[in-house]
Amino acid sequence: MTIQSDEPRPWGPAQTRALRERLRSADMVWDLVVVGAGITGAGVARDAAMRGLSVLVIERRDVAFGTSSRSTRLVHGGVRYLEQGDVGLVYEALRERSRLYAAAPHLVRPARFLFPAFVGDRLGPWKLRIGLTLYDALNFHRGQVHEYLTPEAAGLAEPMLRSEGLRGAVAYEDAVTDDARLTLAILTDARRHGAEVLTYAGVTRLAGRALDHEIKLDDGTGARARAVLVAAGPWSSPTLLGQAAEGLMSLSKGIHIVMRAQDVGVRQPIVIQAPKQRRILFVVPWGMRTYLGTTDAPYVGDPGSSGVAETEELELLELVARVLPGANLRADRVVSAWSGVRPLVRAAAAPGSDTVELSRKHRIVEGDDGVLAIIGGKLTTYRSMAEEAVDIVVKRLVAGGRTRPGPCITHLRALVPGDPPGCDELADAVLADLIPRHGPAARWLTRAGAEKCTRLVEDLPYRWCEVDHAIAYEGVQHAIDILRRRLPLVLTDARLGGAVVAEVARRLVDAHGGSQADIDEEIERYREEVSTETRRPVSVTSS
Ligand SMILES: Cc1cc2nc3c(=O)[nH]c(=O)nc-3n(C[C@H](O)[C@H](O)[C@H](O)COP(=O)(O)OP(=O)(O)OC[C@H]3O[C@@H](n4cnc5c(N)ncnc54)[C@H](O)[C@@H]3O)c2cc1C
Repeated sequence: MTIQSDEPRPWGPAQTRALRERLRSADMVWDLVVVGAGITGAGVARDAAMRGLSVLVIERRDVAFGTSSRSTRLVHGGVRYLEQGDVGLVYEALRERSRLYAAAPHLVRPARFLFPAFVGDRLGPWKLRIGLTLYDALNFHRGQVHEYLTPEAAGLAEPMLRSEGLRGAVAYEDAVTDDARLTLAILTDARRHGAEVLTYAGVTRLAGRALDHEIKLDDGTGARARAVLVAAGPWSSPTLLGQAAEGLMSLSKGIHIVMRAQDVGVRQPIVIQAPKQRRILFVVPWGMRTYLGTTDAPYVGDPGSSGVAETEELELLELVARVLPGANLRADRVVSAWSGVRPLVRAAAAPGSDTVELSRKHRIVEGDDGVLAIIGGKLTTYRSMAEEAVDIVVKRLVAGGRTRPGPCITHLRALVPGDPPGCDELADAVLADLIPRHGPAARWLTRAGAEKCTRLVEDLPYRWCEVDHAIAYEGVQHAIDILRRRLPLVLTDARLGGAVVAEVARRLVDAHGGSQADIDEEIERYREEVSTETRRPVSVTSS
């Protein structure tokens, strides 16, 4: 597919209807069907579509509904993995981080992290310095080196740090992102290259054999494909993979809580060592908010409704209070929270081991009937994981007689096409709000005119033209998709969406067709998802 302009490819109700119709009537055989639209599935779809394969992505819920919208939102090498001896993983992650800086500068932003060491901490100043020296060496692409700070200098860099017992700190560079929007940007680019994406369509069964797969959907329709790749994250179950899924992974739950910046006013991301465990936590400043996380504990149950328990919130607050004693860390000051489940590749030698110690590496496996699956890994390494998986898919397709497609080019292209914003654009109030989420595509949104770009909530940078854009170009089906994953409003404050959800639902139902009953259903769905995830009540007011 040749791309003519920077114009985003429409992805609204009409496109979704047409795709569903096509699946019902046509007997097209896709080169590749990808199950799951988290960052892994999105990365695979983009890579395969850019090589010229015909690709269909099928997602049971919304884009990034799973782990890919519930992470710590870091694009990082993972200082901690050096301690586990995963030097290869750290090298790969740092290389991919550099590529993401170039591919999506608006979404992957460097930040200076401060990693203090206190008396009694597992990692003292010298161990940190040795670790960070290795980190710098593995990160030679970037040329950034860490800095050692004496206790006095660390206190000046971060006045909130506890001074008692502080032995020093290291400052180093990593990056922060918006995980859900990063996933969406990858998938949107996959669509620009011809991939099709169907959301709110669950795969219930995979049948057939290599080069002739049948994919059954929960609405009774289906699709046929020469190759199937399951990227279902923590849902990679025997239903999809047969016996190959047995004992394949361990699930680990991690929660985050969000506080107002005035309560936890750190100047930069802070890394905190958990006592008696090889685990670190992050305190990350995020505009008018600061988020804290994460926990790491074995999990059993539905990954979609892991939720946040009060005990987990208290555990986080307590760990952070040890290091930031001046912060207002009262439980009633928490304004939002989220919870995610890691799909961790299970180490053969250590069944049932503590999930903190399990590697964050990925694995590609072959399930029954030649179905491939990719599990584990990290947001940061999605691109290299996808390259490896698509190489395998291509090899099989070519062995089965398909003309060889082009090579992998994902490392060479930006995720969002268009010139970077100029200084005059950054000075424009509307564009300045939109660019961090949309990059060069922000220009498209403002074409609607300033009156359609007012803010949803006065002191937050989310705009109504983004809601309209999400409905027409970002494949949303429900109001919660907009207020949780296209905009992080629910995460910013679980209560704020209640004042705008009715209007968001009205716009959505206007576009899709429907009645007041559909608007009410949207509001109810919103209320249910927000209270399950954040453990906070949601009161809806009409706007
Ligand atoms: C607490 C926590 C913090 C983390 N922090 C970081 C971090 O800071 N940096 C980093 O690099 N990584 C981080 N990670 C890891 C990273 O988030 C995950 O590796 C990544 O998001 C996994 O993406 P995925 O696409 O494989 O899975 P998911 O995002 O879970 O996607 C799987 C998708 O498959 C869909 N699906 C499931 N079953 C079906 C079906 N039958 N039919 C159709 N669709 C289906 C689901 O709805 C879901 O959308 C963190 C993870 C957690 C849990």
